[in-house]
Formats: sequence, structure tokens, C-alpha cells
Amino acid sequence: MNHRSLAFRLAVWYALLLSATFALVGVGMFYGLEQYLRSNMRDSLRRRSVQVEQILRDAPADISDSAIAAAIDTRVAPEFNNRFVRVTRAPAIPVYRSGEPADRSFDAATIPAQGGAWSSRAVVRPIATASGQLMVSMTPIDTSSGHYLIELGIALGPIEAVQHRLLSLLGLMLPVLVVCAAGGGYLLVHWALRPVERMSQTAEQISVQDLDARLPVVATGDALQRLSVSLNHMLTRLRDSVRASRRFLDDASHELRTPLTVIKGELQELVANEVDRGEVCERIGSVLEEVARLEHLVSGLLALSRLDAGDAQREWVEVNLGALAASTVEQMRLVAEDRGIQLRSSELSAVTVRGDGGRLKQVIVNLLDNAIKFTPRGGIVTVRTLARDDHGILEVRDSGIGIPADDLPRVFDRFYRVDAARSREDGGAGLGLSIVRSICSAHGAEIEVDSASGSGSCFRLKFPLPARGLGAAVAAAN
Ligand code: ADP
Repeated sequence: MNHRSLAFRLAVWYALLLSATFALVGVGMFYGLEQYLRSNMRDSLRRRSVQVEQILRDAPADISDSAIAAAIDTRVAPEFNNRFVRVTRAPAIPVYRSGEPADRSFDAATIPAQGGAWSSRAVVRPIATASGQLMVSMTPIDTSSGHYLIELGIALGPIEAVQHRLLSLLGLMLPVLVVCAAGGGYLLVHWALRPVERMSQTAEQISVQDLDARLPVVATGDALQRLSVSLNHMLTRLRDSVRASRRFLDDASHELRTPLTVIKGELQELVANEVDRGEVCERIGSVLEEVARLEHLVSGLLALSRLDAGDAQREWVEVNLGALAASTVEQMRLVAEDRGIQLRSSELSAVTVRGDGGRLKQVIVNLLDNAIKFTPRGGIVTVRTLARDDHGILEVRDSGIGIPADDLPRVFDRFYRVDAARSREDGGAGLGLSIVRSICSAHGAEIEVDSASGSGSCFRLKFPLPARGLGAAVAAAN
């Protein structure tokens, strides 16, 4: 038996508690019964004493002792009722003394005279005799025939015998009851813990290969049921996360393979054929292009893995979104002009949010990069920052090709591209928007996208403003 097990410890506690309860009940019963029997005995003695008293009071002044004795024998019958009766007339003349009781529970001849009882009122008290304890009522009375002391007694032996019997019964029952209770408690706890046992067996069998298995839910409506349901929810979250990781790994390998294949092909061509310097330069240029793509992809993957690890929350400071957007726009203006796109940034309010400046800049770069990439020559890209209610808003709007409604829900997924061929030509790996989403969720920001095929897109990010209020966070437009 496992002494540290819950079932064992509960059973021991259960047995201890029960023993203490039984012991208390036993002691209560023992003394309660004693009190009850003694008070019954006192009442009975008083009743009999009143009978003797009545005989003496009703007797004429010149009644003889033998007439008193005869009257007591007839009306009280002490020997038959196992009572002791003694009547003494003042100063110390014996009038009557009962004989040996039918049950021989005491010896009437050995009961000492209670001299002190003459002066006091009626009392009932136990006295010790050579043949055992006796409960005796002593009543002094005055009658026309004289001053008497009535002593009426009964042996305490029968009460003591009942008490002894109760004691031995309790002594016998207590260990039996405790053993039964402890055993029953152990079995009950063992039985109650069976669902947990089943849960742990199932949990043992769940592996990464079998993430759809669930623990049995015990319909107990208590903590056990809540535990099994919570563990199942946790398993579902773990399964989703493992699946997402696998998918991510698959997609990443796939994305990495394409540029590597191109690089390998170009280098094999170079080694296999004799080529002039011009062609060498051309092929190396193509290899470098693929290397740049690889570099972009790997840094995207690194950024995502760091964001997944919770890196974005490490170095938070107050960041002025307006100023950050203004500097980023200036850095990207040349790229936009090269592509014949007008970059507008006339509505940049100084909105202060708390966050990681570097990551927030990456968000603006990725959104602007997409807006420039997916807007044809002559188009316009507008960047705005503003404060509304308790939010700081960053908006990047373009007049480009837009995103078809069917693709809109998936553009934030990792490696998702609406037009894979075109996106790849532009160096996109489908990670830009998922990085934006990860950074935004780390900053508690919401993303809204308005877009339709052919009518441009608008990405709107809503950042929570720091708690100290809008007044300090929002400055005038620059
Ligand atoms: P990529 O790095 O390939 O651009 P993103 O995750 O940034 O990947 O974007 C995913 C896809 O969403 C892009 O391939 C593109 O098809 C679409 N997309 C993103 N931004 C825009 C935009 N401003 N206009 C049109 N399509 C866009």
C-alpha cells in the first residue's frame, strides 16, 4: 500500500476523525446514562420515602414499633423490591430495619447509621458499605408519635453493571467501527479517484503524433469536470499550435528551396560551360538577387520567431507615431519616386503610444512597401496619423490594385500571397503582413483593412493610447 497516496492519507484522516467522534459520543453516552439512571434512582427513592413518611404521619401517637414495621412490610415491601429501609426514633431507638433483599445486592446489617442526618433536611447521597455502594435517601420527620429518621436505600451495583456493560460494548465496537470506516474510506476515495486514474492513463497515451485524442470528461459538475474540460481545451490549443508550427516549417522550407535551386542552377551553369566575363557577371548578378531574396526571407522568419517568443514587449518606450511615420516616409520617398508613385504625408499628427520603436518602424515600412509594390505608376500612397477617442491611428492608403474580397481574410497568414508569381518578382515572401499583425498584437493594436480589387487598399492600425490621457498624448498637427 502506498503510504503517500491521497487515498491512504484521506483514509487515515477519516479514521482519526471518526475515532475522535466515536470516543466523544462514547464518553457522552457513558456519563449521560449514569446521570439518567442515578436521577431515576433518586426519584424512586423519594417516592418510597414518601410512602414510609405517610405511614408514620398517619399513625396514632401510641402506635407500637411492631405495628409500624408491619405497615412498612405490607405497603413498601423492601426485601421484595430490593430496597433498604431503616426507621429510627430520636434519640437513637431502632424502630424498623428491612432484611436481606431478594437480589442479595447488599447486606442490611452492615449499613452504618447516619447520625448526622437528624438535623439536616431530606438528602439523597451515596454511602459506602462493606457490601458495595448504596444510594440512600435520609429524611428526618416529626409526627405525633415522635421524631423519626427514615433511611431508604438501593444498591448502586446494577447501575455500575450497566455502565460496565456499556463500556465493554463501546471498547469492542470502537475498533471495529474505526477499521470499517478506514477501510470504507480508503475504498471510497479509491473509487472516487478512478476517473482521475483514467484521465492520467489517456494522457500517457497522447503524443505529438496523436494530438486529436482527448481526456475523458467526468460529468461530476465539480472541480474534476472543470479540470478535464480545461485540460482538453489546453490540448486543443497545443494541437493548433503544433499544426501551425508544422505548416510554418513546411512553408518556410518551400520558400527557401526556390532561391536555393535558382542559385544552384546558376552556379552549375557557370562551372559546366565556358562563359565570357559578361555572362559571368550576369549570372553572379542573378545569384546575388536570389541571395538578397533569401536574406529578406530569413530576416522575416527571424523577426516572426522573435515576435512569437514575446520579444516585442522588452524595450517599450513612448514613441511618437507621427514623427516615426514622417522619417520612414522620407526614407522610402526615393523608392516610390523610382516607381512613379506619389507619397503623401501631410497629415501626420504627433500621436504618442507606448511600444518598441524599431518594431513600429518595421510595421510602417512593411505597409508602405506593399502599398508602393501594389500600386501602378502614377498612383498615390498616403500616410496619416491621428488621435481619435482613446486611440492613436496610423493609416496607409494606396490607389493600387487592391485585394480581392476572397483573399482579404487570408492576407495576414504567413506565406500567403494573392498573386504568388507577381509578389515573388517583387521580392515578397508573404511574411510582411504577418509580421505587421504580430507586432500589432504585441502592442495591443487592432488592424482594419478596406480594400477591393482595382480600387486601392487602406490599412488602418488602432493603437491604445497610454493611460495618462489624450491631452498629453496628442499634440497639434505638425
Ligand atoms: P509580401 O511580403 O509578399 O508582400 P505580405 O504579407 O506583405 O507579403 O502581403 C501578402 C499579400 O497581400 C501580398 O502578396 C499581396 O498580394 C497582398 N497585399 C498586401 N498589401 C497590399 C496592398 N497594399 N495592395 C494590394 N495587395 C496587397
